[in-house]
Amino acid sequence: MKGINIPIYLKVDTNIIGEIKGYLNEMPIDLTKVLIVSGTNYTAGFAKQVHLQLKKESNISHMIIQDNTIETVVKINEKIILEEYSTIIAIGGGRVLDVCKYTSYISRIDLVCIPTTLAHDGIASPIAVLKIGDEVKSLGCDVPKSVLIDLDIIYASPLESKKSGVGDILSNVTAIFDWKLSGSKTGENINDFSVMLSEIAYKSIVNHRSRDLEDREFLYDLSKAIILSGLSMEITGSSRPCSGSEHLFSHALDLYDEINLPHGIQVAVGSVMSSYIQKQEFKEQINFLKEFNIPYSPVTAGINEDLALSAWMNAKNMRKGRYTILNILENEQETYINAIKEINKL
Ligand SMILES: [Zn+2]
Repeated sequence: MKGINIPIYLKVDTNIIGEIKGYLNEMPIDLTKVLIVSGTNYTAGFAKQVHLQLKKESNISHMIIQDNTIETVVKINEKIILEEYSTIIAIGGGRVLDVCKYTSYISRIDLVCIPTTLAHDGIASPIAVLKIGDEVKSLGCDVPKSVLIDLDIIYASPLESKKSGVGDILSNVTAIFDWKLSGSKTGENINDFSVMLSEIAYKSIVNHRSRDLEDREFLYDLSKAIILSGLSMEITGSSRPCSGSEHLFSHALDLYDEINLPHGIQVAVGSVMSSYIQKQEFKEQINFLKEFNIPYSPVTAGINEDLALSAWMNAKNMRKGRYTILNILENEQETYINAIKEINKL
């Protein structure tokens, strides 16, 4: 059985980048030779600030990456082996973090993650999403050893990315329903501790006093919810506690070029529909999403009914072995059509 990893150093605070040297010196990591990896433009600016602060004490290089392909992982690993780096500092959004999580997993060197958005729950998860040829694969890896969330950076991040993060957390409720359903129908093992963490994450956001994506306290709590969701996945060893039928719908939508919505928005729309099908409180979810001005139905997300139906019809086949409510529907097409029509009216 794989051991459980948690970030042994976690800070969620303001001005982390401005005081990065102090934070890094507190960590049990080797800073002799550091490779900073960032995305282009916006995140590269933060990487330069870190570079400037560390260059006197450490041997530092900065690498900018453009994508999350397996080729990029290989390129960074080659650099790590040839130039003997001791630590990677990843500064960026999901692609940068996923590439660095997998790189650190392969090369076995320490990783410090500094996310620049809270767009999804993958920051501290044991999963890296990488492009391999024409396919997008979710690969197992380690949870990052150190995570630093700078609330000033998150505060300034695009509104859409914050909405996406909220949507990804909301989906825990339908994912847990599907997991428990599978437990009763197929005998799949349910880890109650994972369920508890996933539910705490979900409830902390749904029951939050604030509905303001510029409220720093809300962003602090969203950061915590995202970390807890990641840990619930680590304990299970898969995305199961945070990914059910709503994620299958989102994966099906990813196959359509004309749909280019953030992951958490697709998942939020999927979660409302899954709730409806699961006979959960889908109207409460709609009210919650409305308060943040987050799309909650195909029509509010700009997805036409035919395409939404087609994605739902494909959803069941998107992930082998992931048993959900979609596996027990008797009149699938009719159920989806009715659900889309009813939710689109609200
Ligand atoms: Zn997700």
